[in-house]
Amino acid sequence: MADAVIVLRAGREKSVLTRHPWIFASAIDSVEGTPGLGDTVVVLDGKKKFLARAAYSPSSQIRARVWSLDENEIIERAFLEKRIKASIERRAGLKAYENTDALRLIYGEADGIPGLVVDQYANTLVMQLLSAGAEKFRSEIVEILSEVVKPEQIFERSDVEIRQLEGLQPREGLVWGKPMDHVVEIFENGLKYQVDVTGGQKTGFYIDQRRNRQKVYELSKGRQVLNCFCYTGGFTLNALAGGATGVTSVDSSGPALEQLKHNVSLNGLDEAKSEIIEGDVFTLLRKFRDQARSFDLIVLDPPKFAPTISQAEKASRAYKDINLLAIKLLRLGGILVTFSCSGGISRDLFQKIIAGAALDASVDLRIIDQLSQSPDHPVLASFPESFYLKGLICEK
Ligand code: SAH
Repeated sequence: MADAVIVLRAGREKSVLTRHPWIFASAIDSVEGTPGLGDTVVVLDGKKKFLARAAYSPSSQIRARVWSLDENEIIERAFLEKRIKASIERRAGLKAYENTDALRLIYGEADGIPGLVVDQYANTLVMQLLSAGAEKFRSEIVEILSEVVKPEQIFERSDVEIRQLEGLQPREGLVWGKPMDHVVEIFENGLKYQVDVTGGQKTGFYIDQRRNRQKVYELSKGRQVLNCFCYTGGFTLNALAGGATGVTSVDSSGPALEQLKHNVSLNGLDEAKSEIIEGDVFTLLRKFRDQARSFDLIVLDPPKFAPTISQAEKASRAYKDINLLAIKLLRLGGILVTFSCSGGISRDLFQKIIAGAALDASVDLRIIDQLSQSPDHPVLASFPESFYLKGLICEK
């Protein structure tokens, strides 16, 4: 059966021509045929000239995601295999270079496979299908991954809300290979972590912070550290291993903190130096201020306050609030390592927020380093949305 066709409004072909993978509903003039969820469609410009093949998503504002700009390329198993292999090959040598066995192998649009995320944790793969197009090729993707990577198992964590926008139900479970423990042990920069791939956040671990954890390791010697939004202790372990005199770790998730405790002992780190507090960071920072507690290094790695630009204003206030409080808790000469993983907050805006917080605290804050996501989460130049993690290291 011939692929259905979507014709773009005049002028709206520009984003496809500039290699941006998303085609919004508002850009479409007409649809010829009745493409279903995830079906491949041919994309034409207003003059009916071929632009791309894309995956159709009937109910999403992102109505189609571009698979290929090459008219001769058919979207089938061989195409996916080529893209998956290329994505994995681009990371050849990265495990050794980054000193880890936990790596993002496929980062969706940025790797030319819209909606597909695959993380490797030692011999286990964790897969997320986030778009109708990726879902359509689910069985092919599982098969290809099992053949190319030869893992012990592939676990699916498509239990995320954004699937609803694509008209897909959440799904999770073992999809290939041997039954498994829900916890996988990985290593990174000389430290070991237990990652709960079945119940943890995201696919189990914040792989994207790897290089930034290393920075905290380097900065921690002799410092009293506060790690806010600590999850399972990535920054905590690095601060302890890097010679911090003590680390206070805060998160609202009890299970994450249990895992953190376990990770501290797994590495033989000094539990007496590790204070763990379950609670709300916004409240706790105020409590510390009232108690006149102070620190030499503070990490702020909150969840996405602004997934999209429409929430940017409210999110800005939240970022400013915690950063202002943190700046006040820092001793003179202290270091703030602060992040935003919100797609709706640009690097410029984030820096302005931090500048505003420093101004309100009446201090000169000096930015001494700019941080971003680790290289297995590449930013596709034509797709700025793939750049999401912004970090600043600041000195008070
Ligand atoms: N820094 C971590 C990742 C942090 S993810 C790492 O490197 O692994 C954000 C964390 O913030 C999650 O663990 C979540 O449970 C926690 N969180 C979200 N809102 C919170 C709040 N208001 N107070 C405390 N923790 C919160």
